[in-house]
Amino acid sequence: MSEENKALKEKLLSRRRNGYDRMDEAGRAAMEAYCADYKRFLDAGKTERECAAEAVRLAEAAGYRAYRRGQALTAGDKVYVCNRDKSVLLAHIGEQSLAQGVQIAAAHMDSPRLDLKPNPLYEDTELAYFKTHYYGGLRKYQWVTVPLELRGVVALRDGTVVQVKIGADPEDPRLVITDLLPHLGAEQSKKPLAQAIPGETLNLLLGSRPISGDEEDTNRVKLAVMQLLNEKYGITEDDFTSAELEAVPAVCACDIGLDRSMIGAYGHDDRVCGYAALRALLDLDKTPVRTAVCVLADKEEVGSDGVTGMQSAAFDTFLEDLCESQGVPVRACLEKSFCLSADVTAAYDPNFSDVYEKRNSAYLNYGIGLCKYTGARGKSGSSDASAETVAYVRELFDREGVIWQIAELGKVDAGGGGTVAMYMANRNITTLDAGVPVLAMHAPFEVVSKLDCYETYKGMRAVYRAEK
Ligand code: MN
Ligand code: MN
Repeated sequence: MSEENKALKEKLLSRRRNGYDRMDEAGRAAMEAYCADYKRFLDAGKTERECAAEAVRLAEAAGYRAYRRGQALTAGDKVYVCNRDKSVLLAHIGEQSLAQGVQIAAAHMDSPRLDLKPNPLYEDTELAYFKTHYYGGLRKYQWVTVPLELRGVVALRDGTVVQVKIGADPEDPRLVITDLLPHLGAEQSKKPLAQAIPGETLNLLLGSRPISGDEEDTNRVKLAVMQLLNEKYGITEDDFTSAELEAVPAVCACDIGLDRSMIGAYGHDDRVCGYAALRALLDLDKTPVRTAVCVLADKEEVGSDGVTGMQSAAFDTFLEDLCESQGVPVRACLEKSFCLSADVTAAYDPNFSDVYEKRNSAYLNYGIGLCKYTGARGKSGSSDASAETVAYVRELFDREGVIWQIAELGKVDAGGGGTVAMYMANRNITTLDAGVPVLAMHAPFEVVSKLDCYETYKGMRAVYRAEK
């Protein structure tokens, strides 16, 4: 190539670069430290409730206080609201009036899992089981023959809420869902993946030892299991009716790869963005110019409905409360606000290249992935950010030295997905999707790159620090 064309190429053509070629030693050290904290966060929170509790704990340690309606708010104040123990809203009040809008990072803390049914416990052929109802878009075949834990709450009629945590301690037993042996799996193997494991076979194996006593009695294994649960938690079978118990993978977050460049864990979607959004807010070293708001929502995996989901008025109420403290109509604040809808995207997987479009995929180690639109079947269910909005974030990220890429989820007709972006945009907030590229998204064990985790944190920080 001639010198002239080389210069022209440099000037005119885009050049993707691996993030490692752009990161210095100090950056790598900061990335490793950040990722060590993130792994701890993942192990502390395997349900939306646990994540909310951990977020509140970290926020309190950083000087955030529970918001009381009507309290005066001035620049520098740090407040949070925990919505029904499942979702957290935080704000660091900025120097500007709320009439100038706020800078929001919104992520979700719920992840695909197996919930117990309201009548879960039964015995079949002297084996005890829990019936489950899966939550979110999971591939059922991935959830069999992996060790599982049980976490959640049982709410009693007297108002007591019993915390259940089986499997968190290394000495604890685990639960599992069995699958067919290959020797007898010939017919099952002929079925499409989506049909091979019917939802009603996702039954958790709980026990096999009958309670001692009359050999002719029925349901002795079930009774023995219920006795154990009663001894440990003081609950009876009827109490499952008012419980939220979730079977989640019994795996801790760990480094992946001989080079330790990735993290494997359950629940990266979307705790990887949730933690980034939270941590960037807590780490702000001075009062932001614009008020910084972090939203850690629930129920995204089932459509963001419900009282703790992003469609809930809980968010509007929080913002309205903040605005009232400054005598600002919330609608004036909303229309000048910006939201980075922080949710994971699909990372290009060379093993399944046929569902990705190589020129418009997110790649591991290329930084936080911006998505102008998500959705399926021609952008349905997407807010489709404007060109101006993408330009705003491009400039912001470049100015703050954030390594970023822009991508779609996969091939146009291959499928698709949604985020909370449209629910923010529908509120008259300028919104763009961005997040960490994930391999094996929604699997019991997902993989992300450390570099992308850290750049996402830097992206959130850039949003909070923005002055306009
Ligand atoms: Mn997500
Ligand atoms: Mn998801």
